[in-house]
Amino acid sequence: MLVTDHVADLLLERLRGAGLEVDYRPGISRGELLRIVHGYDALVVRSRTRVDREVIERAERLKVIARAGVGLDNIDVEAARERGIRVVNAPAAATQSVAELTIGLLIAAARRLAESLELARGGVWKKVMGFELYGKTLAVIGFGRIGRRVAEIARAIGMKIVAYDVVDLSSHAEKIGAEFTRDLHEALRRADAVTLHVPLTPETWHLIGRREFEAMKRGVILVNTSRGPVVDSEALLWALEEGIVAAAALDVLEHEPPATEAEKRLVSHPRVFVTTHIGASTREAQQRVAEETARKLIEALAAQCGAD
Ligand code: NAD
Repeated sequence: MLVTDHVADLLLERLRGAGLEVDYRPGISRGELLRIVHGYDALVVRSRTRVDREVIERAERLKVIARAGVGLDNIDVEAARERGIRVVNAPAAATQSVAELTIGLLIAAARRLAESLELARGGVWKKVMGFELYGKTLAVIGFGRIGRRVAEIARAIGMKIVAYDVVDLSSHAEKIGAEFTRDLHEALRRADAVTLHVPLTPETWHLIGRREFEAMKRGVILVNTSRGPVVDSEALLWALEEGIVAAAALDVLEHEPPATEAEKRLVSHPRVFVTTHIGASTREAQQRVAEETARKLIEALAAQCGAD
């Protein structure tokens, strides 16, 4: 099998321990991948490698694609399905880590930690005025695994939750004392803080754009730990300048590292707190990802080979 991104040593250990032959080529170029992919039964990637139709069509022997992580937006799942290739991932492994980071970013934005840090580093001992999260309303956009966990922790802080999803998840909301709505703009209108937890799909690309910012209260906080393109960067800059968004905390950008002028301005904006896509970067999440990916990959490969 071919591993094209940096993965935990534990994952490599598990695969080799199962007797599989592993070619570890993290950072391989797209050209090289296209040239050699035909020789492998399994492909293991994280989020860097784009496994699109072109790669899949060249992968004559490929039986399984494993994404060592959560999101499948870098894999053309439909093209894989058409060729009978199984796609496996570790969907729940990072839930707690991403939820904890989200809450951390929420607090960082409400208490203006980035500004205070800058002042302290510059030797300026000045206070910055923030606000409490207690009693405020948090809109959770996408009420799946991570959204629900964020909502549970935010409830413990004393926040009110209004959850939005395309699927009716009102019974899940009820269990944790959250309100549920199928109307995105209603959730946005009521929120003091907005947190995004949808997958990246054609429907969620720029889900939060100018019209959505216009629906938000002045002084709202935006946290995005989902996928960068869910937010229109130009529209976010506009909303920051207009004073609609008081502060934004982003673990993800439309391009990583930032490539457009708007993204570069966001990274250096005094009221924007950017982290380097570290949502799943904890020892615990990576251990779960390694164990779950290895187990599913080994099972899928055995099933696919049995079916040959
Ligand atoms: P999940 O599949 O459990 O939940 C996603 C929810 O979004 C589902 O309830 C789904 O119904 C809903 N949804 C889908 N399309 C929607 C739409 N158009 N409008 C509203 N809701 C919609 O996924 P999860 O495990 O909670 O992950 C959520 C996000 O977090 C994903 O984007 C994932 O890629 C991202 N993530 C980021 C990191 C990181 O490092 N920052 C790590 C892991 C996951």
